[in-house]
Amino acid sequence: MWTFVIANTVIVEILFYTGGTGKNGTLTVAKFFGLHAALLMLFQLLLVARLPWLDRRIGMDRLTVWHQWVGFTLLWTLLTHATLVVLGYARLDGVSMLKTLVALSGVPASLLGILAAVIVVVIAVVSTRNLRRRLRYETWHGLHLLLYLAVGMSFVHQLQEPASFKASGFGRVFWWALWLLTFGAFVIGRLVLPVWRNAYHLFQVSAVVPESDSVVSVYVTGRHLDRLPARAGQFSVWRFPGHNHWWLANPFSLSAAPNGQSLRLTARAAGKTSAGLRHLPVGTRVFMEGPYGAFTSLHRTRPGALLIAGGVGITPVRALLEEHTAGDVVVLYRVRSADDAVLIDEVRELVAARGGRLHLLTGQTGAGTQPFEPHNLHALVSDITERDVYVCGPTAMTSAVLRGLRKLKVPNRQVHAERFSLA
Ligand SMILES: Cc1cc2nc3c(=O)[nH]c(=O)nc-3n(C[C@H](O)[C@H](O)[C@H](O)COP(=O)(O)OP(=O)(O)OC[C@H]3O[C@@H](n4cnc5c(N)ncnc54)[C@H](O)[C@@H]3O)c2cc1C
Repeated sequence: MWTFVIANTVIVEILFYTGGTGKNGTLTVAKFFGLHAALLMLFQLLLVARLPWLDRRIGMDRLTVWHQWVGFTLLWTLLTHATLVVLGYARLDGVSMLKTLVALSGVPASLLGILAAVIVVVIAVVSTRNLRRRLRYETWHGLHLLLYLAVGMSFVHQLQEPASFKASGFGRVFWWALWLLTFGAFVIGRLVLPVWRNAYHLFQVSAVVPESDSVVSVYVTGRHLDRLPARAGQFSVWRFPGHNHWWLANPFSLSAAPNGQSLRLTARAAGKTSAGLRHLPVGTRVFMEGPYGAFTSLHRTRPGALLIAGGVGITPVRALLEEHTAGDVVVLYRVRSADDAVLIDEVRELVAARGGRLHLLTGQTGAGTQPFEPHNLHALVSDITERDVYVCGPTAMTSAVLRGLRKLKVPNRQVHAERFSLA
């Protein structure tokens, strides 16, 4: 992947240096930023294309973090490009920047670029931590979809403006190939694959089993499930059209290893959708995107494993445990009280069958003994640096565990984390 990124960046640098200059120095620098903004936009699309081979290796949570950083860089690159274009033309014509901006808004190609930049700025503002927290997930997500409009507008903008990639035959072929490849990957990952998978497997609810007052397991069957490329530890994005609004989609992990016959998700009631799952009638059609995620045994490096779960974060850990048939295993399960330990009987049985150890750690973050402080972790699992460590739980807990592991010098390649928040 890095080879792909570096190779494309190098080609873009060559296109810039061989593509001629702008009408003045400022417009030449503007061209440089414009070209890089376009490249960043393509990388952004690839990061959210949900390509299975990329997702299985890197994981959607890490891809999402990269997406945020690339988005942040794109914002500043785009703003710099826009400011320099206005400044460049203002200098050329000897008028104010405001007058130039008004004049540029009257040119269709420039107007498209300006509108695309405005959309990117709006999305960046609503994605800042404070505003993002105040918005409903669906509102934020709906606004985010406007970015596709921005990508379309900036594509037309690039076609109509004098750009470096138009200066040579190679430049044109490269640029078109990059756009077609990226757009194709995006359409396949986000549309073709999910639609095909659902039409092929015809998923439907086969049973709904309450695990406690607030937690429920939903069993899903379908045709040829043995051909679904699903692994323990992965999650899917689920829709229950007919029972719920079709636009509502929620990520839930597989809480049992896929067995070719059925899939199981186990959800804690957090809001309307998750609370309503216990009322799903058997036979309800299910639309599933995925499975996604790199929280799987594909990345195991050691025979021994330490699985750490917090609350409902036990779901992928429970599935991984089922698959962990070779090697020593220790499970740390953090819950507020023993009554909150979802799926505890299944976990106990699986640990016992594998001759492993289970520690149920009761208590609350910030109160009493903190089990994920480095010395406490080490006291519980003295050979921790020799194991693969899988951790899944609330964001604060996961971060505390990761800090502890860093201090204990557990090598990065042995650490695998899943957070129950993508955005
Ligand atoms: C990778 C992953 C795996 C997960 N696995 C499980 C699991 O196995 N069991 C479980 O109980 N919970 C799991 N969650 C959390 C679960 O997705 C949310 O609790 C659920 O979506 C809440 O939806 P709601 O409509 O009931 O509640 P709401 O009140 O609407 O949402 C509560 C919070 O959930 C988050 N959320 C809602 N919809 C989405 C969405 N489409 N994508 C991302 N976040 C969303 C938002 O941050 C929101 O603030 C997982 C989350 C992720 C990201």
